[in-house]
Amino acid sequence: MAKIVGGIGASHSPTIGFAKDTHKENDPAWAPIFEGFGEVRDWVKRKDIDVLFMIYNDHITSFFFDHYSAFALGVDDTYYPADEGGGPRDVPPAKGHAALAQHVAAALVADEFDMSFFQGKPLDHGCMSPLSMMGDETGPWGGSIVPLQIGVLQLPIPNARRCYKLGKSLRKAIQSFPDDSLRVAIVATGGLSHQVHGERAGFVNEDWDQEFLNLLESAPEKLVEKRLADYAVLGGMEGAEVIMWLVMRGALSDKVTKVHSMTYAPSVTNIATVVFEDEGDTPDKADLEAYRAHIGYELAGAETLQGTYPFTLDRSLKCFRINDFLHRLVIPEHRERFLNDFDALADQYKLTAEERSLISERKWIEMIRKGVSFFVLEKMAAVVGVSNPEVYASMRGETLEEFMKTRKVPIKYSVAGGAKAEEMNNA
Ligand code: FE
Repeated sequence: MAKIVGGIGASHSPTIGFAKDTHKENDPAWAPIFEGFGEVRDWVKRKDIDVLFMIYNDHITSFFFDHYSAFALGVDDTYYPADEGGGPRDVPPAKGHAALAQHVAAALVADEFDMSFFQGKPLDHGCMSPLSMMGDETGPWGGSIVPLQIGVLQLPIPNARRCYKLGKSLRKAIQSFPDDSLRVAIVATGGLSHQVHGERAGFVNEDWDQEFLNLLESAPEKLVEKRLADYAVLGGMEGAEVIMWLVMRGALSDKVTKVHSMTYAPSVTNIATVVFEDEGDTPDKADLEAYRAHIGYELAGAETLQGTYPFTLDRSLKCFRINDFLHRLVIPEHRERFLNDFDALADQYKLTAEERSLISERKWIEMIRKGVSFFVLEKMAAVVGVSNPEVYASMRGETLEEFMKTRKVPIKYSVAGGAKAEEMNNA
């Protein structure tokens, strides 16, 4: 079982990254920020933390209103800093712990949280501001991360209770990860009080921030009862993002020891750093086994189905590049180049020789076995003028005629639209 060593609370204001990048360590106006994060960094080092589970919200950088989700778990193995308007920060990419992310994903879904999953997306200051402070003069922090993005910027959003409950499941998820040596800290980012929009911009409430930190330590259930409107009144509309800290607190045991707490409110937000050590008991082995069975319950046995390749997060991660390349066939310019300038396009997307041959030789079943999603293959089929039944026949090792004999009615169709549909219908 992986061990939850403790929880960290840290603001994620862009101020923090800016201070680091412009070397303001010795400027008295900025020094308290470095002091607070220095304590956190020392603790992470002292406690040999392997994974920082980063709970953060994106600021309409990588997650836009065209598809906004509540709980988006990063399942990638590498995370780059995002360009938020003035070019990306000069910080190295973070390593993702994909195996832990996949395990947590399965656990939270088994516990009936409707998660979404992301990869191939850069992380903005919500995650990168505090994470970059974990490095020192010897280089960036050497461990890995699992990011959990919570959509708190387009209402409705999950409430405080939902976040706390998710934290409780997250505890079981991490503890049931079968790696006895893995040491994890849960990092909640955001807050404390601030509001950055409207006539109330600049609102800060340091008294409430102190009360919030006290309750978080010793009576989190009182915070769970508060509504979003209560948080907006007390800590500003954007300050309501502190509900993310309840995921962290929920993932710790009832008993924690606060080993660090500091706040500093120089401008429009109260920048905080807090560290709690977890004092919980080691979970019972039988309970962990039962929870693992619960996680695997829905799909247990599916792996023995012949000719079936469940599209898991593991397959998705391993084949993201080729799936991404083929998914882009929904863009007219991409499919134009796919048909007329394939080699240059494949170069641009860094496809391997194997991936190129799978595509150009239309090796449908080999692509499925490798981990390409059928639903990008049917797009490719439409582009190259192959009907869906031809793909099914090929995957089964049959001719189209043989496949059609297995159907009640031998019809041909495709996901192509417009003139392409007509063309394929008349072929
Ligand atoms: Fe924020």
